[in-house]
Amino acid sequence: MSCIFDKIVAGEIPSNKVLENDKFLAFHDINPKAPVHILIIPKKHYENFQEMDPTLMGEMTKFIQEVAIAIGVDKTGYRLVTNCGENSGQEVPHLHFHMLGGTMLKWTDNHQHDPKSSF
Ligand code: 5GP
Repeated sequence: MSCIFDKIVAGEIPSNKVLENDKFLAFHDINPKAPVHILIIPKKHYENFQEMDPTLMGEMTKFIQEVAIAIGVDKTGYRLVTNCGENSGQEVPHLHFHMLGGTMLKWTDNHQHDPKSSF
């Protein structure tokens, strides 16, 4: 059974795309937690960062840098977050990086907080 991001890659679920090539896709998060909130994924399904192919990750680094330029946060700065597994609160089991920016982002290491509230 394919996950929701596999369906976005296949075009079965619409997404607001920012950048795409044959291996990666960037699109706006449906529930943005900052003025800029982009999700960046490999098209091939990896459940999370722990499963990711390090060689492909090298190519993905370049793609992420291109997304930052395309969305205009390469100079102003951004936060890159990936939730990996149960304790992180990962909801969609397909590796994705959150690119957050467009404002001064808060930071907290308070482990009693909902991990998502610290964006
Ligand atoms: P996670 O909690 O797994 O790190 O983040 C999943 C993210 O995917 C959330 O920020 C959520 O808003 C986003 N999301 C979930 N379903 C969809 C969808 O169908 N379309 C888009 N664009 N974003 C989604």
